[in-house]
Amino acid sequence: MVEANDLRPIVCKFDGTATANADRLRRVRDIVRSDPLRRFVVVSAFGKYTHSDHDCTSLLMLCDAHVRLGYRFDPFFKPIAERFRTIVRDLQLEVDIQRLLDEVEAGIMTQAEGNKCYAASRGEYLMAVVVANFLGWPFIDATEVIRFSADGALDSAATNAAIAERLSQVEHAVLPGFYGSLPDGRLKTFPRGGSNITGALVAGSVHAARYECWTDAAGLVCPAPGAEPVGRMTYAAFKALPEGGVKIFPAEALAVVQETGLLLNLRDTDRPEHPGTLIVPDHRALQ
Ligand code: ASP
Repeated sequence: MVEANDLRPIVCKFDGTATANADRLRRVRDIVRSDPLRRFVVVSAFGKYTHSDHDCTSLLMLCDAHVRLGYRFDPFFKPIAERFRTIVRDLQLEVDIQRLLDEVEAGIMTQAEGNKCYAASRGEYLMAVVVANFLGWPFIDATEVIRFSADGALDSAATNAAIAERLSQVEHAVLPGFYGSLPDGRLKTFPRGGSNITGALVAGSVHAARYECWTDAAGLVCPAPGAEPVGRMTYAAFKALPEGGVKIFPAEALAVVQETGLLLNLRDTDRPEHPGTLIVPDHRALQ
């Protein structure tokens, strides 16, 4: 898949199933450490832990909606704060998580009007700070490198240049997925599932050997429930899956992957040794 003498970096994106709790984050650390080429990591906010709880981003969006309507939002903020405190405590990290949570809580109240995407973006922000501390790697905020134009469209040229420049200065980095900045400094998020887009932009800009998206088994391409994942398929075959594969990987992210001709590798966090599904440009189908 990656030639033995290929020293290009591997970009790993971990979704909300991979960042759901301390145990899963330990797995993330082991996966990252098991290959020195895994130099750049993009993280999602925590996802559901049990079937009955909520993912971080949905809770943050509920906080935001309540502030706008003039209602209290602490019932939605509390489970977020509790989850981050538990993760930091279980991993014994030296992150002043309470200070960060207080800042975010205050920010949700004060920024709801002018900075529409502020609240939704904070799960990725907090998770990237936590994971950077856990790995002992630099945290690079997405606002530094993911750039949107004033009309809200992604500024691909500015983004690619900023990522290439910033990441050339570091050996490793952890970046939050899902958001970036507008020219006036306000935050802007991608559509839901957008950390996949951030990861694809990072992978494209650093000419990654492959872009690994780590998730649970539900995010792999399997011919039938419980069957082994498909080993290799083309972009075209992936897009021909029911709903164009978007349940697994959003169409916007696939467009970025395709534009840059990246090898997209869907991997299972529970079975790190399994090579997962490799999605390749159509012309590489036979290689
Ligand atoms: N946390 C965001 C969401 O739930 C982005 C992502 O996970 O990709 O949509």
